[in-house]
Amino acid sequence: MRIWRSVLISALLAPLVGFSLHAETRFAVGTASAAPGQKANGYIEVPAGVDAGTNIPVVVVNGAKPGPVLALVTGAHGTEYVSIIALEKLIGELDPAQVSGTVILLPLVNIVSFEQKVPHVNPIDNKSMNRFYPGKMDGTQTDRVLFMITKEVVDRCDYLIDYHGGDLDESLRPYAYWGPTGKEAQDRISKQMVLAFGLDHIIIWSERPTDPAATRYLDNTASVRGKPSIVVEAGHAGTVETDDLGLLVNGTLSTMRALKMIPGEPHYIENPVWLGKVVDVISEGPGIWYPLVKRGTYVQEGMVLGHVTDYFGKVILEARAPAAGVILHLNAVPSLKKGDNIADIGVVAAKAP
Ligand SMILES: [Zn+2]
Repeated sequence: MRIWRSVLISALLAPLVGFSLHAETRFAVGTASAAPGQKANGYIEVPAGVDAGTNIPVVVVNGAKPGPVLALVTGAHGTEYVSIIALEKLIGELDPAQVSGTVILLPLVNIVSFEQKVPHVNPIDNKSMNRFYPGKMDGTQTDRVLFMITKEVVDRCDYLIDYHGGDLDESLRPYAYWGPTGKEAQDRISKQMVLAFGLDHIIIWSERPTDPAATRYLDNTASVRGKPSIVVEAGHAGTVETDDLGLLVNGTLSTMRALKMIPGEPHYIENPVWLGKVVDVISEGPGIWYPLVKRGTYVQEGMVLGHVTDYFGKVILEARAPAAGVILHLNAVPSLKKGDNIADIGVVAAKAP
């Protein structure tokens, strides 16, 4: 009786409130609102505060069929170009008629970095846009943008992929991060995602912040909130090479197949190199960098990676590998100042997880 009555009421009301009933199935992020089977563009509007406001571009691909919500976010570092162009390609390629569930794409979080060609930080407040999650509304522009992304994207999604790559001054070989949380079901899915993505070197990123109010990184913000997430990196030193782009575009599609969001079989990487930790080599002072190794080179502990001279050509530092492992990225340009990262070495894990 009760069911019958509610059906009857729905039937009576439907013609009158058809729009609002229909509206319930729309998916909106910021000003981008898409009905099922549609793709919509818009902006996450970040109001002015202690400094200028901004509008972060967002695309919602609302699939014709129901399913989970996947967030794809890039351009926190606006000159990691391959990751940005990869999402631009995916915006064009994802067909809502083929999608089960919803994809939220943020192709460029750090707009001023991209436009002014400034690596690593948001030039408005000089902050990295992947270090201050979950953000706050009473902070500078980076804090407010990250707060809005946490609220509008992280809180709304079921899965998240954060895209990075070698910045203008980083010669990087492709790799992914997998951050296990200790929650078995969540870790199983995130591991499935990272294997489906297919990058052949995977960093096991443990010992991360667990306080939801101080999660620092985007993927960790999603992880701590119970959403399986990964980080992927490809591209280097301002280049946009087809192979690097292919890794990120095809990896995304394979991950979406693993999550059953598009038709087809995922392609899982079979024998990735699992890296147990990453060791930095930091410049002790300013100078000119002369590398002797390349991105992707495997080095022994103590091996000379390159040298640094003063501006008169005198060698002031021989940079040596503090551990055996693979060069994940290397300073790509001669400029070095004190505290700059000369190289990151990934140390192979004792065993696969
Ligand atoms: Zn980055």
